[in-house]
Amino acid sequence: MSLLSLFRKKKTTASENRAPSHSSVAAKTKTGLADTRAAIDELSKAVKDTPEAVEIYLALGNLYRSQGEIERAAQIRNSLIVRPGLAPATKARALYELGRDFSRGGFLDRAVSAFEKAQEIEGESPEILTELAIIAAGSREFEKAAFYYSKLNQPLQESHYLARCAEAEFSYGDENIALDTLKKALRIYPSSTESWLLILARLKKNGSLDKFRKKFREALQSIPRHLRFVLVEGLLSESTIFGDTPTSISTADTVKNYSFYEVMVQEIEAADPDVSMHYYGAKLLQLCKKDEEASLWLEKTLILNQNFWLARLELFNLAQEQQQLTPSFKNQLDFFVNIAHNIKRFTCSSCGFKRDRIFFVCPRCRSWHSITFRKELNQ
Ligand SMILES: [Zn+2]
Repeated sequence: MSLLSLFRKKKTTASENRAPSHSSVAAKTKTGLADTRAAIDELSKAVKDTPEAVEIYLALGNLYRSQGEIERAAQIRNSLIVRPGLAPATKARALYELGRDFSRGGFLDRAVSAFEKAQEIEGESPEILTELAIIAAGSREFEKAAFYYSKLNQPLQESHYLARCAEAEFSYGDENIALDTLKKALRIYPSSTESWLLILARLKKNGSLDKFRKKFREALQSIPRHLRFVLVEGLLSESTIFGDTPTSISTADTVKNYSFYEVMVQEIEAADPDVSMHYYGAKLLQLCKKDEEASLWLEKTLILNQNFWLARLELFNLAQEQQQLTPSFKNQLDFFVNIAHNIKRFTCSSCGFKRDRIFFVCPRCRSWHSITFRKELNQ
């Protein structure tokens, strides 16, 4: 019985690196499903209720899960769970892993059921609550997700999902309910960029310039310096802030928006802008057709960071209009300028993921508020 021998071998080396066994287990997954079932049953009988043995058995299940073999992984957990006289803590652990198997396999109802059974035995644990929060968020049950994150005492995440509730409430026309939800989100986490963004977008949409100025100032004071650009980028984007499709800065804005952009520039200037905010100040001035002032802001950007490629590109664009270029030269130039404009502007500081629209949780490594502006091309 090959799996059993694997188990016996590993039993004595549980504290060692498990990596060498990975390939042999992967090879075993190629055997027939019936063989594996028999092997798992055999192995299950041999597993004594000692922490070490159970640990190895569960690790085997995790290996199956990591290979996408959800059914086999779940079978391992179930063969443990049904054993009479199993220690409650072990049963809870097996149920937790079973929940993770189902979650990975996309069987969300069964995952939730397994996690809830584990919770009945062990009580609430951060690991289970985190899994339940992720499932709720993935199923767009934002209120539930906020609830779990509040239990986890993670205010950044809680306020994020409250903001997502508010976005839905706005779309249903429940303006006052949405604003109350956003107030709550900011009470829980005062620097919630996404909540500020929704409040400001609303004021801009309603044309409330004075209120907008006051709230924009407050937002700049509340949001950490390195994330302030997210606020401006979000306000300039055309579609929803939580979506996945790339957004471009709206150039079809009517003159009505100029006063909002001017207010933003004034408040950015008063708030001691860093290099990214200098760039966004220039962007706003360009939208108001104030090219000369925009050039000055871009030059300031380059004084702060001479490798800030986008500032150079914009300055180049502004200068180009004053040059007499042959059609051929202009054609070649446009080609490169277009390529440069398609470079993704944002990157995750944790894993290096790149994207051309803002994100609050990294789609790749799940880090929160890890977005940075790609000031330099090699970032
Ligand atoms: Zn990341």
